[in-house]
Amino acid sequence: MSAPLLQVNDLKKHFPLRGGLFGGRTGKVHAVDGVSFEVARGETLSLVGESGCGKSTVGRAILRLFDITAGQIVLDGQRIDDLGPRGLQNMRRRVQVVFQDPFSSLNPRMRVRDILAEPIRNFGLVKTSVELDARVAELMEIVRLPRDAVSRRPHEFSGGQRQRIGIARALAAKPELIVCDEAVSALDVSVKAQIVNLLQDLQREFGLALLFISHDLAIVEHMTHRVAVMYLGKIVEVAPRRQIFAMPKHPYTKALLSAVPVPEPGASRKPMILKGDVPSPVNPPRGCRFHTRCPLVFDRCRAEEPQLRSVAGDQWVACHLEAN
Ligand code: SF4
Repeated sequence: MSAPLLQVNDLKKHFPLRGGLFGGRTGKVHAVDGVSFEVARGETLSLVGESGCGKSTVGRAILRLFDITAGQIVLDGQRIDDLGPRGLQNMRRRVQVVFQDPFSSLNPRMRVRDILAEPIRNFGLVKTSVELDARVAELMEIVRLPRDAVSRRPHEFSGGQRQRIGIARALAAKPELIVCDEAVSALDVSVKAQIVNLLQDLQREFGLALLFISHDLAIVEHMTHRVAVMYLGKIVEVAPRRQIFAMPKHPYTKALLSAVPVPEPGASRKPMILKGDVPSPVNPPRGCRFHTRCPLVFDRCRAEEPQLRSVAGDQWVACHLEAN
């Protein structure tokens, strides 16, 4: 088996919490608290969970939008969490992002030609303006937009078309990994499906790895290879798509999946409503972080943190009930 493209080892990101009369440090937000996973070349790993679980923070840490608190991020065998400016420039070509909101992630004053030309120039991927124009036209074709639309500005496109421009901009750098941070969440249902199909086609064509960050499990079910479920800064279950949707093991995964509509007519999943709110990441619960909401909680859960363990081949679960 070849080495993974991306390895995240025990990643932690804590943000300082400031308050009081003088704005001093009063605590810390445990946004990500010991997360480990791998993404293979050409694979889609979906990172799912409720809002505030830390999934977008993981994506932003991989993009090196801030320094991490602890852990390692390894791209193709090389640590990228401690790179200097030169190493970062090269890493930024290899790891690109598509954000949720195509309305705000594209500069409204720039024409599409310039939006796409910027990364091509910045990363020195062409030598002449003729090559640059040809590459911009090629990118438009790849994301199935008309070539002559390059002279238009973002507001002249629909939401789905704008997201295609965002994807073209990510592809312009010839990346190996794209972090899709809620990349289809702001789109209408039919447009979502088109963008997901496009991402899958591009993945096949260019061998891209995708880290697909989403709270929308109905979309994830149709497009991912593996799923990692996050709760309050930790991964509670990781498994191949079919396995996790057919037989989720962690009580939190079961609750999340119970709300996902089943495609077969007449079929349904047994609804499982969780009580209470997600606890604050400033002061997460001791033991299992899910214990304040878990319907199966028992004494050990309040005292001892469960570790991720392999329970069935590639299915890993952090729950004391799956320990044996
Ligand atoms: Fe529930 Fe306990 Fe398992 Fe946590 S460890 S998910 S509280 S049963």
